[in-house]
Amino acid sequence: AESGDDGAYAGGGMNAFGPITVSPAAQVINYGQSIFEGMKAQRSPDGNILLFRPTENAARFAAGAARMSMPAVPEEVFVRGVEETVRANASYVPPHGKGTLYLRPLLMGTGPILGLGPAPSYTFLVYCSPVGAYFKGGQLTPIKLVVEEHFHRAAPGGMGGTKAAGNYSPVLVTQLSAKKEGYADVLYLDAVENKYIEEVSSCNIFVRKGKSIKTPPLGGTILPGITRKSVIELARSKGYDVEETPVSVTELLDADEVFTTGTAVVVCPVGSITYKGKEVVYGDASDPGPTTMEIYDALTSIQAGTAEDTFGWVHPVLPN
Ligand code: PMP
Repeated sequence: AESGDDGAYAGGGMNAFGPITVSPAAQVINYGQSIFEGMKAQRSPDGNILLFRPTENAARFAAGAARMSMPAVPEEVFVRGVEETVRANASYVPPHGKGTLYLRPLLMGTGPILGLGPAPSYTFLVYCSPVGAYFKGGQLTPIKLVVEEHFHRAAPGGMGGTKAAGNYSPVLVTQLSAKKEGYADVLYLDAVENKYIEEVSSCNIFVRKGKSIKTPPLGGTILPGITRKSVIELARSKGYDVEETPVSVTELLDADEVFTTGTAVVVCPVGSITYKGKEVVYGDASDPGPTTMEIYDALTSIQAGTAEDTFGWVHPVLPN
């Protein structure tokens, strides 16, 4: 759907996947006015298609739009756009337990502008693709992370709290070199003291010591993950003491168990972390830790419609 300054996002419809045409002076190409979301649709055992907390994505998208000087997509338009994309691609939603349909809502300044300023017009679109596990080895295979000591993802006052396209360019170099060295991904530190953990390239992080679970606080430098928020609630409901508080590298390396969370990675066990060239292994590096398993099972069974949705998180996409 296209928008003028009124934010109406009118004229949407379903188009076959393919190139979109924009002016070379499109704001997004020149100045990066673009935000996105990542969501998944999956089938319950009885074949219904389920989304997970889509209004949370709509809210984060709207907050991101405000930070980026873009007219926000109303929640109703956002959810309808996602639902219609799912319905039009229902045949690509894998059978229960065989993967998911990943959905990518995008909002970008497509109107032309030469001098720096917000775009005169915007495009809101949703595309999708069936996906399997995010990291090779499959879901629940513990990953190796490396702590990045020189480059940072986000600075205080910057864009780290927004799912802005531009946030992902600073991590390309670090992610690639980490992968070459055999790590699955990179763990970033705060840009002020270079001492507190923040997040991984595409997921949030949790550390457990005994019954205490900690995750870095939302302060504008990490993404407010919807999986993160859900895992905090789930873990509390299971009797864990969960704190959103700065976690130093020292605490990280001293933890009993570490896992990451995100739409793409779901709940992912961390088998080892390398810091300053030294690798620290958690538990039995080839199996997920007990809390990771407990939270993974609780979350995925709600998402897949095999456990009672006591939190009201699941959003069925009914056929038209
Ligand atoms: N951090 C970053 C940088 C991400 O890209 C993502 C994926 N959206 C997350 C965390 C996890 O967020 P969510 O649980 O909403 O997918």
